[in-house]
Amino acid sequence: MTIQTLVWGENVHEKTNKVVADLYPEGLHGCIAGALNSADGIEATTATLQDEEHGLTNDRLIDTDVLIWWGHAAHGEVADHVVDRVARHVQAGMGLIVLHSGHFSKIFKKLMGTPCNLTWREAGERERLWVTSRNHPIAAGLPDHFELENEEMYGEPFGIPEPLETVFISWFQGGEVFRSGVTYKRGAGNVFYFRPGHETYPTFYDENVRTVLRSAVMWAHNTAPRIMDVDAAPNVPVEDALEPLTARGPKLHADGEEGYR
Ligand code: ZN
Repeated sequence: MTIQTLVWGENVHEKTNKVVADLYPEGLHGCIAGALNSADGIEATTATLQDEEHGLTNDRLIDTDVLIWWGHAAHGEVADHVVDRVARHVQAGMGLIVLHSGHFSKIFKKLMGTPCNLTWREAGERERLWVTSRNHPIAAGLPDHFELENEEMYGEPFGIPEPLETVFISWFQGGEVFRSGVTYKRGAGNVFYFRPGHETYPTFYDENVRTVLRSAVMWAHNTAPRIMDVDAAPNVPVEDALEPLTARGPKLHADGEEGYR
């Protein structure tokens, strides 16, 4: 079975910053998709902010097993109705991988329900990622730790809910630490946040990072059928109760009423 993966890129700094454009001529999304397409069993395509509906139509999301999100400068330009649509698909079973500055994306904040804030510094310092969950599928094939020579620092406290699992912790040359690989379950959807990936550094060409991306796609893929009525809240009438039941007491709702939202 091929895992249909959609790599979403904001595609702003690739167009406005020469360093980023030279480093990622096909966009960060293009580079990430390339890393994924080198794996058997993954088929990756791309979409960007500038596409109609940001490339995230309902039809496209139905066909997507795992969505990858990279955004930074234009989180506010992502339409709320598209964010709601993506969230419903995650809750219905679509996998979601949020990268680097996507910690402040609308979709990540919505699914986390917390500020997702952190400390940061752009100084090209060394990042050392430590595997904290050695037999986790996302860490498959990795050494116990690996380094990225130039990265932006993200430091604790990181304003996320307590993760389901912490797969990586990062140490930075300046002394900070950060939970750099964390998993969540939101509805039926597997969610993974992975920290590295500042756009002025060649992070997405690093072989260990590319290994993590491929393993994360395989982990996030939910093979169960998508739950299409994910936010349904049906009333069960007395006559449909599994055991014999007689209604009693005062009633607020008329029979067959939709109920409040
Ligand atoms: Zn950054």
